[in-house]
Amino acid sequence: MTYRALELRQPAPLPHEAELRAEVRAFLATEEFVPLCDAWLAGHDPCFSRRLGVGGFIGMTIPVRYGGHGRSVLERYVVTEELLAAGAPVAAHWIADRQTAPLLLHYGTEDQRERFLPLIARGECFFSLGMSEPDSGSDLASVTTAATPVDGGFLVTGRKVWTSHAHHSHFMLTLCRTGPAGESRHEGLSQLIVDLQAPGVDVRPIALLSGEHHFNEVVLDDVFVPDALVLGTLGAGWTQVMSELAYERSGPERLLSTYPVLAELVRAVGPAPDAARAAAIGRLVAQLVALRRLSRSVAAALEAGETPLVEAALVKEVGTRYERAVTELARLQLPIEPHLGAGGRLEELVAQAILAGPGFTLRAGTSEIMRGIVARGLGVR
Ligand SMILES: Cc1cc2nc3c(=O)[nH]c(=O)nc-3n(C[C@H](O)[C@H](O)[C@H](O)COP(=O)(O)OP(=O)(O)OC[C@H]3O[C@@H](n4cnc5c(N)ncnc54)[C@H](O)[C@@H]3O)c2cc1C
Repeated sequence: MTYRALELRQPAPLPHEAELRAEVRAFLATEEFVPLCDAWLAGHDPCFSRRLGVGGFIGMTIPVRYGGHGRSVLERYVVTEELLAAGAPVAAHWIADRQTAPLLLHYGTEDQRERFLPLIARGECFFSLGMSEPDSGSDLASVTTAATPVDGGFLVTGRKVWTSHAHHSHFMLTLCRTGPAGESRHEGLSQLIVDLQAPGVDVRPIALLSGEHHFNEVVLDDVFVPDALVLGTLGAGWTQVMSELAYERSGPERLLSTYPVLAELVRAVGPAPDAARAAAIGRLVAQLVALRRLSRSVAAALEAGETPLVEAALVKEVGTRYERAVTELARLQLPIEPHLGAGGRLEELVAQAILAGPGFTLRAGTSEIMRGIVARGLGVR
């Protein structure tokens, strides 16, 4: 058996990183919001997203000619870190900014770029991800939502599930079958941009453990999608979706969903914790530093135009385990009784983290699947 090593980039700190962080912090200081755990999924606030867009903090990597800011992936990384660390309500625009915009830049037509990218950069156009189906999650190639060609476009029929924020989003990038699966089952898949307000779209809520509504089942019944809203090449949906997953799995949101808990824990134990507590918290901080380096190295690879799927899977697997470890440590270190509406900041944040925690290691691909990808990438499987 031949093992392969991962070659991780070590990008230098950005020369103007401190100024950029200060700009985001200055923006956040003018905003009123209650910091949340998992804010990139739980904190849906379209008005906040619009103000963030006006501030120039969305669409950072979109070229200026499409209404963006022509900044680098690593600059965007700094901004998203600051927003997540503050627990700011960034969910509305998150998916469009993180992965739809890069996909449109890579695979979209000029008309699609001109139509969607300026709106995304202004925080005015939100996308959902239509990948999973009732019988298709880990085995994504088995999707059965079908797009049948008709005059001028396609009629799409099928069911998507676990579709975060489909009830607030404008569009859903939908993975569907447009042709036979072939031997690999990766053929005949395509990505269509479905207008969630179109006739035949029915968005039905699925309640979370906490009773909140962020998930949906999206039923598509002969929904017309014009040819102009096919993303990329018909039949190349598998390759396209894989490139999207490198963005989806590797960013700071895979390490920082529970950062507000860690920050509040540090405040709660005060400047002189006993040695055992200091060691336990210090270990978490050291792990975060290492994970951050790994995640930044993937950002640098994305910047270089690569598709670092194996490294992204590693970030996702280790990072989401870390996010849950933060919650566990906070719960064990202090005599708190976490529950929603508890009043105390730490109790509230830990309760949010406990309720959201089961999803960390499932969404965007489960830990078992991530381990398989890493094992194959390293040549050990
Ligand atoms: C918070 C959250 C938000 C989400 N948002 C979206 C969204 O917006 N859009 C979207 O399309 N989807 C979304 N999802 C769905 C998510 O992508 C799927 O839950 C995930 O891919 C797993 O699929 P599944 O739930 O069908 O589980 P299954 O694929 O049925 O897996 C069940 C269990 O079997 C294990 N398993 C399956 N296959 C293997 C294997 N080959 N080897 C080892 N173990 C295996 C899995 O690890 C898992 O533990 C979201 C999920 C969550 C939790």
